[in-house]
Amino acid sequence: MIEFTTEQKMLRETVRNFAEKEVAPLAYEIDHTERFPTESFKRLAEMGLLGITVPVEYGGAGAGYTEMCIVGEELGVVCCSTSAVWGTHSDLCIDNIRRNANEAQKKKYLPPLCDGSRIGGLAMTEPSAGSDVMSMKLRAERRNDDYILNGSKIFISNGPVGDVFVIYAKTAPEKGAHGVSAFIVEKDFSGFQRGKKFEKMGWRGSPTGELIFEDCRVPAENLFGGENRGAMVLMSGLNTERVLLGALSLGISRGAYECALKYAKERIQFGKPIASFQLIQAKLADMAMEIELSHLITYKGAVMADRGLHREMNLVAAYAKLYCSEVAMRVTTEAVQILGGYGYMKEFPVERMMRDAKLQTIGGGTSEIQRLIIAREILQ
Ligand SMILES: Cc1cc2nc3c(=O)[nH]c(=O)nc-3n(C[C@H](O)[C@H](O)[C@H](O)COP(=O)(O)OP(=O)(O)OC[C@H]3O[C@@H](n4cnc5c(N)ncnc54)[C@H](O)[C@@H]3O)c2cc1C
Repeated sequence: MIEFTTEQKMLRETVRNFAEKEVAPLAYEIDHTERFPTESFKRLAEMGLLGITVPVEYGGAGAGYTEMCIVGEELGVVCCSTSAVWGTHSDLCIDNIRRNANEAQKKKYLPPLCDGSRIGGLAMTEPSAGSDVMSMKLRAERRNDDYILNGSKIFISNGPVGDVFVIYAKTAPEKGAHGVSAFIVEKDFSGFQRGKKFEKMGWRGSPTGELIFEDCRVPAENLFGGENRGAMVLMSGLNTERVLLGALSLGISRGAYECALKYAKERIQFGKPIASFQLIQAKLADMAMEIELSHLITYKGAVMADRGLHREMNLVAAYAKLYCSEVAMRVTTEAVQILGGYGYMKEFPVERMMRDAKLQTIGGGTSEIQRLIIAREILQ
């Protein structure tokens, strides 16, 4: 077990109480109606949890990745969609700007993102560039004091509701990965449009959409990280994103396990609680063990990130992303099994958790890609 500080334990307690009292009651409805959890987002802003890794002078909490994972995990226990909305905003958008933007950009964009008056997202994926993200086609051409963007992005979390996006585009297509640049794009920039909103299996309260750029005019001052240095910006966030996704998966696993454990103690069949049957006990034992291991690998990654070991943590970040997501899939599937027919009904949250868990093996780098990274690291 990772030794948390007193402040980290207090943070966990605070977020857990908030999640149980205010987020859990909305979880069914936002999943059912596929709506953005506006109330929870506002409350997370009031609690100072949006800019968790941002220094206080820009309106953030001045905390680290361990705290970020604690928040992501606790929200994930009751509602993965809310955790995804928060993680997209706080990690993919805000933390990226904190790490890579210049002083003027940080002063302009971080305070309204941290106080929740603006919603953030990040767009890498395109219709023909998913795992092979560097094959992206979105084009950015310099014209006087602007860059003109043409192309599109798909599957963008917070896309249908976001105000500010970190966007990757090709400024020098002939240079491949060395011709990518990063931009901060506002929804009101001319030529920016939202495309379709996708209907999904899980993560349904976390809106996913298409972004379209038609001669979209982005001021040159919104380029960040340097022209043709976007791949470095992109890579700088992948490990922490993977660890945070590990925390979300851990949260889902815990939520499903807690529900299955309670049910197994209460459900009577053949005159006994089903928890007394060894086949059910074996499932619960595997779940408990895999949750403990998910916790260890997630927080090992978070602690490495807090120690600034970003380059050294490729392996651990891939382990956390891969292991915790596959555990979440196994644990939620077994939780549905333990609840039997009720597990398949929407009266209990485990069917939603199983649908949410599936995305964890796809988004932020698929399980296959994580295995390739692990193999590359151990073979080099
Ligand atoms: C709900 C949701 C939210 C998302 N949010 C965002 C977001 O906010 N921003 C963003 O930029 N993107 C986002 N994505 C995109 C996500 O990161 C991609 O879906 C993911 O990286 C996989 O890309 P793909 O879907 O194009 O699949 P593909 O890359 O086409 O992969 C298809 C299959 O082929 C496998 N595969 C691909 N290459 C290899 C290989 N070399 N070896 C073996 N197998 C391989 C994959 O593992 C997968 O099983 C989101 C996706 C979803 C579904």
